[in-house]
Amino acid sequence: MESLWKKYTPEQKKETFDFCEGYKAFMSACKTERECVWEFTRLAEEAGYKNFNDIRNDKTQLKAGDKVYAINRQKMLMLVQIGSDDMEKGLAILGAHIDSPRLDLKPHPLYEDTDFAMMKTHYYGGIKKFQWVTLPLALHGVVAKKDGSTVTIRIGDQPGDPVFGISDVLPHLAKDQRAKSLNDAFTGEDLNLNVGSQPADNEEDEAVKKNVLAILKDKYGIEEDDFESAELEVVPAGAARDFGFDRSMVFAYGHDDRICAYTSVMAQLSMKDRIFPRTFVTLLVDKEEIGSVGATGMHSRFFENTMAEIMDKAGQFSELKLRRMLSNSKMLSSDVSAGFDPNYASVHEKNNAPYLNKGPVLHKYTGSGGKSGSNDATAEYIASLRKIWDESDVQYQIAELGKVDQGGGGTIAYILAQYSMDVIDLGIALHNMHAPWEVAAKTDIYEGYRAYRVFLQKI
Ligand code: MN
Ligand code: MN
Repeated sequence: MESLWKKYTPEQKKETFDFCEGYKAFMSACKTERECVWEFTRLAEEAGYKNFNDIRNDKTQLKAGDKVYAINRQKMLMLVQIGSDDMEKGLAILGAHIDSPRLDLKPHPLYEDTDFAMMKTHYYGGIKKFQWVTLPLALHGVVAKKDGSTVTIRIGDQPGDPVFGISDVLPHLAKDQRAKSLNDAFTGEDLNLNVGSQPADNEEDEAVKKNVLAILKDKYGIEEDDFESAELEVVPAGAARDFGFDRSMVFAYGHDDRICAYTSVMAQLSMKDRIFPRTFVTLLVDKEEIGSVGATGMHSRFFENTMAEIMDKAGQFSELKLRRMLSNSKMLSSDVSAGFDPNYASVHEKNNAPYLNKGPVLHKYTGSGGKSGSNDATAEYIASLRKIWDESDVQYQIAELGKVDQGGGGTIAYILAQYSMDVIDLGIALHNMHAPWEVAAKTDIYEGYRAYRVFLQKI
């Protein structure tokens, strides 16, 4: 299979670069699950979607062509476009996750040590801790106050903003550190953020910490206790960038899995007012990186409950129809894949590795060891996808994550498969997955978008 750059016409190359400008802007602005929900909601409203909560209790009935969205706790989002068939015949679902590995602030983060104000962090998801030191870091999130108000925090990504950072020891004094394994050299409790060094005037004890608290009070109206009810995420500071002399790749924080979320949303919104037999759902979930748990993760019943409400609102609900809808649905569980990297060739098996610039990657199964923990899609479902994509000239790859027994991974696929619906993993290959800055190829982003569009229209 050849590089998509060789296959694309000049027009397609231009579309690829143009599409990725939108993607980079999105990735530069949206670094938390909440920021993704807010931006996708804005885009959906522009495309004519209505908040399902606003119409839930009125007299209108949903009909073919109607478009609604539903938000769960600002961290999970469903976009639904009603089709002409009864929903019991099954949905076409695009699913991706919008949480990414990062460092969260602890509930009691702020302390002073040797005239520095510092913050304790607790890492979220699978990170290699040594990658997070000596980087410019930003703070994004919310602080919920007892009066019911919520303060939004975004520091480090606007021109002129300060940034924060975690230190590393100088090589001159790193004899002990070098003797340790990568695992032991950086521990979770070492990832403390430096946030200030100037003491408040007229203070004796913890004057630097008090100065930081005074700034937080002045700028955001928050007190130290308010950290107890906050979700503040420490993320890499800076914009998504073109990567390479030829600008053929994108360097960004959080490709996993916002690259699939963005392309899925764009694919569904591009359907505009055309009416198709199947109802479309783009499902964007939180908490995938920590096991899809919690009220906003895929294991919650939000998707099922919301679809019951939507079927009811369309005059199509019964318990039996809901069950039929679930088992008749077809889903792409979209998550990133590990692109072959010549620097680390030994972890891949060349005949079954995904490659950058060769299109989105189908994974029949993920898991580890003897496919443990994977959804293993049926051969028949894969054949139906090969057919629709081949007919529409979408280039895709079929691959494994890496060498057998080298490791493994999981996605949300197995959770939806519990309804006995057809689910398969489809993703975009990355270099540096889970690092603060990940690399993706622009043709894969565009071809992924094309693959989602064809899936919605033809599955
Ligand atoms: Mn992922
Ligand atoms: Mn991941």
